[in-house]
Amino acid sequence: MVHDLPAYGIWAGWCVHGQLCCPVCIANSDAFWLSHGSKFSFFDCHRRFLPPNHPFRQLSNAFQKNTTVTKGLSKRLNGDEIVAWHSRLVQKGDGGFEGYGTEHNWTHICGLWELPYAKGLILPHNIDMMHQEHNVAESIISMCFDIKYKTKDNMKARRDLAEICDRPTLQIVEGQTKKPRAPYCVKIKDKKQIFRWLKTLKFTDHYAANIKRLVNVDNTKLIGLKSHDYHIIMERLMPVMFRGYLHDDLWRMLAELSYFYRQLCAKEISKKMMQKLERRI
Ligand SMILES: [Zn+2]
Repeated sequence: MVHDLPAYGIWAGWCVHGQLCCPVCIANSDAFWLSHGSKFSFFDCHRRFLPPNHPFRQLSNAFQKNTTVTKGLSKRLNGDEIVAWHSRLVQKGDGGFEGYGTEHNWTHICGLWELPYAKGLILPHNIDMMHQEHNVAESIISMCFDIKYKTKDNMKARRDLAEICDRPTLQIVEGQTKKPRAPYCVKIKDKKQIFRWLKTLKFTDHYAANIKRLVNVDNTKLIGLKSHDYHIIMERLMPVMFRGYLHDDLWRMLAELSYFYRQLCAKEISKKMMQKLERRI
């Protein structure tokens, strides 16, 4: 079953919003409420997925301030456990199940669980790769080019950052109306230069022929990009686009992410490569 996250919610019968939005971690996640952003955040919930002796686990101020991580992975429920949980759910008079929103996020029991092989699936729900790649590429582009109303790195985020992290250079000081420029944002004059380069790009027919038509150099905007355009940007353009404009560490991180997606989407991929990618991500 392949779908995007809202569809995931429908097929899994699990609401994918709020604190319990992850159907794998369930009540085990460390999601927390952002007082300025007014939403739940999963920031720094991912260090637990690292190997037990990974140095990042001990960095007390690189992620959330004064926090090291010792706990391990949350257990992924198998088909039998999910079906057993479904059978324990108690229906409420006004619809829905008891404990909704506090112990679980089950909205309904999906009929697909009646399929004879459903319980045996290792991964019953899987998010569509292109859709996911689109979202990741879009948020990187919006953030690095600091695109107004699209970047998640806004004033509210910087105010939350002051409470959660120890990054004084990015914080907003009382009375400040503009956020300090972050090292992951390209400078305005560089942004123009990158957009001019994007405008000159030529691809072979049926590959990504119209990307340059979506580039507006005057107001440095990308308009009407579709999943396939983001796919090309993520896997082919991103490492070239930011080289020399971002600090080498940041560029390397983006280049590695691009390589990760390129390998995942390759026509052929070996089991060994998949294991390597899983270890490195
Ligand atoms: Zn999770």
